[in-house]
Amino acid sequence: MTTQKIAVVTGSNKGIGFAIVKGLCEKFDGAVYLTARNVERGQNAIQQLNKLGFKPLFHQLDITDQQSVDKFRDHVKNSHGGLDLLINNAAIAFKMDATEPFSVQAEETVKVNYFATLRVCEALFPLLRNNAKVVNVSSSAGHLSRIPSADLRAKFSDPNLTIPKLNELMEQFIKDAKENKHQPWGNSTYVVSKVGLTALTIIQQRLFDSEQPNRNIAINAVHPGYVDTDMTSHKGEWTIEQGARAPLFCALEADFKGKYVWKDTRVVDW
Ligand code: NDP
Repeated sequence: MTTQKIAVVTGSNKGIGFAIVKGLCEKFDGAVYLTARNVERGQNAIQQLNKLGFKPLFHQLDITDQQSVDKFRDHVKNSHGGLDLLINNAAIAFKMDATEPFSVQAEETVKVNYFATLRVCEALFPLLRNNAKVVNVSSSAGHLSRIPSADLRAKFSDPNLTIPKLNELMEQFIKDAKENKHQPWGNSTYVVSKVGLTALTIIQQRLFDSEQPNRNIAINAVHPGYVDTDMTSHKGEWTIEQGARAPLFCALEADFKGKYVWKDTRVVDW
C-alpha cells in the first residue's frame, strides 16, 4: 500500500480533463489517475502524456456504470487506501443540431452530468483522506440565474435542500420534459444538469462541515471558461490548458470551500 497522495480526474482522455491531468502531473505532489470510459482512448491519452515526460496512472471508469465505479473504488482502496483529490470533470452535451427529442436529451444529460457524478461521489467520498479536495466541473450554464422560474430557483438555492430532495427536483425535470411541461426549467437540458451539479456541491460541503468537520474536506464547483474541445465543436476561445487553470486552482491553491468559482478563479455569487 502506498502512502503517496492520490488524485483522480474523471473523463480525462481528452479535452479539459486531459489538460487537468497534465497540469496535475506538473504540480500535484503525488500520483495522478487519468480515467476514461474507453480503455483504448484512455491509453492513447496516457501515451501522449508519456511523450511529454509525464507518468499518470490509468484506470477504466465509466461514471454511468455502477460496476465500473465500484471496481475503480475497490482498486483505489486496495492499492492506495484513500484519495486526496477528486476532479469530477466527465460530462456530455448534446449539440445544437442534435435530432434526439428534448425528453431524451433531458434524461441522458441529467443521467451523466448529475446522477453519474453523484454516483462517483457516493463511491469515493468515504475514501477521501483528511484535507482532501473535490472539484466539480460545472459551467457558466450552472449559474442559478439560468433557470427561468423564480420558484425553481428558490428550490435549488434553499439552504435546507437535501440530496434526496435535489434528486427529486432533477427527476421532476425529466418528467416535465417527457410531458412537454418543462418551460419553467428553460430550454437547455445542459443548464439544468449543471445547475443541479452546482447545487449538489453546496449541499455536499454543508454535509461534510456539519457531519464530519474534522475531515476538513473542501468542495467547489468551477466554470472552466469557453474552451476549444469536442464538446464545443472547437468553437471555444480558450485552449484546454487555459480551461484547466481554474479547476487546477481549486485543486491546488484555493483556501475556500463550498463556492462557485469563475474561469478567472474568482469566487462569484451563485
Ligand atoms: P469533452 O467532450 O472534450 O470531454 C468530455 C470527457 O468526458 C471525455 O473524456 C468523455 O469521454 C468523458 N465522458 C463522457 N461521458 C462519460 C462517462 N459516462 N464516463 C466517463 N467519462 C465520460 O468536454 P470538455 O473537455 O469540453 O468538458 C469537460 C468539462 O468541462 C465538462 O464537465 C463540461 O461540461 C465542462 N465545461 C466545458 C466547457 C467548454 O467550453 N468546453 C464550458 C463549461 C463547462 P469520451 O472521449 O469517451 O467521450
